[in-house]
Amino acid sequence: MSEISFKRDASFDKCPSCKAVGKLRRSRAQSVYEQVVKKLGFFNYFRCRDCGWRGSRLSFGFNKASLKTILIYLFLMLTTAVVVKFVLQKIALK
Ligand SMILES: [Zn+2]
Repeated sequence: MSEISFKRDASFDKCPSCKAVGKLRRSRAQSVYEQVVKKLGFFNYFRCRDCGWRGSRLSFGFNKASLKTILIYLFLMLTTAVVVKFVLQKIALK
């Protein structure tokens, strides 16, 4: 337990191969593709300390922090849409 972050940490996920919990360790990217994927923040690579399984796990989850961001974006989009519609109607009425 090194760090506490709001980002989903798959280190505590079950291993897809042997179902061991908390055995996944972050793995270094082994190719350019993996580096890009990691940079984008969609996936992280993990290795199981029990069975040696290695693979990618989703690195973002719908935790509170990201959900809030999504809601704020939705709200902004809706507000913009309403304002644009309002302005367009005003222009059309003239
Ligand atoms: Zn395993």
